[in-house]
Amino acid sequence: AERETADIIAKADRYGARNYLPLPIVVARAEGVWVEDPEGRRYLDMLSAYSALNQGHRHPAVIAALKAQADRVTLTSRAFHHETLGPFYEALSAYAGKPAILPMNTGAEAVETALKAARRWAYDVKGVPGGQAEIIVCEDNFHGRTITATSLSSAPAYKRGFGPFTPGFRLVPYGDLNALSGAIGPNTAAFLVEPIQGEAGVRIPPDGYLRDAAALCRANGVLFVADEIQTGFGRTGRRFACDREDVEPDMYVLGKALGGGVLPISAVAAGRDILGVFEPGSHGSTFGGNPLACAVAIAALNVVRDERLAERAEERGISLMRRLAALRHPVIAEIRGRGLLIGIELTVPARPYCERLMAHGLLCKETHDNVIRLSPPLVIAEEELSFAFEALRRTFDEL
Ligand code: PLP
Repeated sequence: AERETADIIAKADRYGARNYLPLPIVVARAEGVWVEDPEGRRYLDMLSAYSALNQGHRHPAVIAALKAQADRVTLTSRAFHHETLGPFYEALSAYAGKPAILPMNTGAEAVETALKAARRWAYDVKGVPGGQAEIIVCEDNFHGRTITATSLSSAPAYKRGFGPFTPGFRLVPYGDLNALSGAIGPNTAAFLVEPIQGEAGVRIPPDGYLRDAAALCRANGVLFVADEIQTGFGRTGRRFACDREDVEPDMYVLGKALGGGVLPISAVAAGRDILGVFEPGSHGSTFGGNPLACAVAIAALNVVRDERLAERAEERGISLMRRLAALRHPVIAEIRGRGLLIGIELTVPARPYCERLMAHGLLCKETHDNVIRLSPPLVIAEEELSFAFEALRRTFDEL
């Protein structure tokens, strides 16, 4: 039986590009917070596909919506209308409190969409001279893997050999309000920021930073654009991470859990004055806003609301953080988090710890080398948190 996992991994290694370094586990089945490998071993999923599984694996309501829509119509392209697009817009508009929505597929595409909207807005509304618009981004950001998202990154590993890069971006240190203030000029279109930097290792900015940055942007006619792709939909114990500081961004960039752990769907949510810059033919995507993804997203949003996932993330997050505070180990540098987005920063590489956690039935993935990210599905029960903590305790006892 052990051969099955090994054979599956060997085949993937033989044909695949080596752009990932997965843990040596094959997920063959999944339900809720649990996954199972081909040999029948069970693991608790503490990664949730980088927060795309907030609703848990194969949530029954999401799967039911998928199946029902699959039996009607799956794809029209945007050349024609279909019945689930309007209801999806309505549902996301209500959730985000924004009047206009533009749907795409992946997070990176939603980021690209937000950047295009911000640039056009700068030229058409703000009056920035043609070709001069600037967008401010933060050091150690992660906004995806397209050439432009790579261009505005500060990480050499993301950039090497991929130039020439898209111009028009300016980097400032994350969490530094003075640096932001100094970077804003007459041609600044937008400030693009993650309210918590997930990929950078669950980095949380100083209290008040988001609120003050948003106020600074408003005062200077700069769009405040929040990339809530990883932090949205209840993950951090709030509807959006920006809610913790009562910040209402001009644009939300959304993805991951919007697809309920089933399909890729992403979106930008903003005011009419901003998304109104797009006229027919200026932007789009063959699969963006397709019937199947819209039906799934409506169900995914309903689960977030009906099962009060933000409140649950807040409660469970407090409970887990309280237990984690009792972990004592010389390699633990810091444990930080909001809701169920938690990082354990080590003074050594995190990979061996993730491998040992896997042996104890907990699936985690290191981020930025020395951080263990804990981000379980938000439907996790208290007993399941105990299981997770026990695996962590044993791992830190043993290593
Ligand atoms: N922005 C943030 C904050 C993310 O965490 C991610 C994915 O990890 C992305 C953008 C890119 O999303 P995708 O991988 O769907 O393109």
